[in-house]
Amino acid sequence: MKDLLFSEFQSTVQENVIRHKSLIDGMTKLEESVSRVNRAIAKSVTSCGCIQIVAEKHVIPEGLSLGQLRDLLDTGVRGQLCENCQDAIESELGSSMYYLTSLMNALGLSLYDCLLTELQRVKALGVFNGA
Ligand SMILES: [Zn+2]
Repeated sequence: MKDLLFSEFQSTVQENVIRHKSLIDGMTKLEESVSRVNRAIAKSVTSCGCIQIVAEKHVIPEGLSLGQLRDLLDTGVRGQLCENCQDAIESELGSSMYYLTSLMNALGLSLYDCLLTELQRVKALGVFNGA
């Protein structure tokens, strides 16, 4: 059942991509859309102020297990997205998914298969995932 959503999304993207159908246009639109995600996040901090980003050197005590390390480290995000910022970021993330899927269509790849393979890889690698 869940794979139907991925399949429907991928086929809908396939049916509606016209202007950026070429692989090279798809590649650059994906890159642009990811920049727009980052811009929307930055505006949440610098324009709205609903969230703050705290960044500092990680001080990692010796002898921690990977599970303890995972619990120790945080995202650096303080506060909570307001409704406007959440909408803006979700919209930009949706656009990124659109262009990512369009790229996959151009290459004949399955969104569902790619996610399934990645899920299996993440489960197999556990905390060792995510270079
Ligand atoms: Zn906000």
